[in-house]
Amino acid sequence: MIQSKKNLSFCILQKINYLQKFVLEKNGGKRMEFIILISIMVVFIIVMFIVFNVNIREMRKAGENPELDKLSQKFPENKEICQTILKKLNNEKVKVQENEDKQASLYIAMTDTILIANIKNSYTRIQTIAHECLHSIQNRKMLIFNFIYSNIYMLSFIIISVLTLSGVIKDRWLFAGIFIIMSFIYYIVRSFLETDAMTKAEFLAKEYMEDYIETKKENREITREDVEKIANEYKRINVIGIPATQFILFFNCSIKIIIYLIIASLK
Ligand SMILES: [Zn+2]
Repeated sequence: MIQSKKNLSFCILQKINYLQKFVLEKNGGKRMEFIILISIMVVFIIVMFIVFNVNIREMRKAGENPELDKLSQKFPENKEICQTILKKLNNEKVKVQENEDKQASLYIAMTDTILIANIKNSYTRIQTIAHECLHSIQNRKMLIFNFIYSNIYMLSFIIISVLTLSGVIKDRWLFAGIFIIMSFIYYIVRSFLETDAMTKAEFLAKEYMEDYIETKKENREITREDVEKIANEYKRINVIGIPATQFILFFNCSIKIIIYLIIASLK
């Protein structure tokens, strides 16, 4: 009994010793600093998750509503909706393409094209189309910067990580600092573009639906109440979706920073 207790304490001491060595030995204690920074990042991710009230289950359910899906079928085809909204925004030069194979719609700034994904069965389609149309009228300089910078950011992450792992980068703190600044710039631009489009899409989609029933007065299939029902759901999606999108952007940047800090701490 005494012997096994002795063994156990020896084992624990050995483990503590190993941990101490792992944390302090390399790079004159720098590993400890990386571990502190990683822990702070993890704490902030948890705090932001709570503060932004992210509810993953609610997010998944947000776009599901068979009754509204059926109702929204009474509006025109996606491409027609998109062209009407673009006309309303005085931006008819944008190219509109439908891509049934894709799950996410997007606006490509470089080619000035809106790609509409396979969303014809969901009631969220009018809001999604309005969202992409709103991207197309955003500050062009910012859109181009975002497109180029997103690629540079991803590429930098891979290059810096590989060079650090292979020992080419010696000053890991300098590159950690550069990458944190790069992440901050990426976050602020993306966050502005998305929040701007999401906030306005709710109202633009409602305006489109109201105009549609106004111009199709003989069409009794959709009533003002139906439009109100759909618009209320768009509002609900935004209440959940805007903070969730902000958090996801923050999380994506933070996770890259954490991965780099782990790589840096291992060398
Ligand atoms: Zn967007």
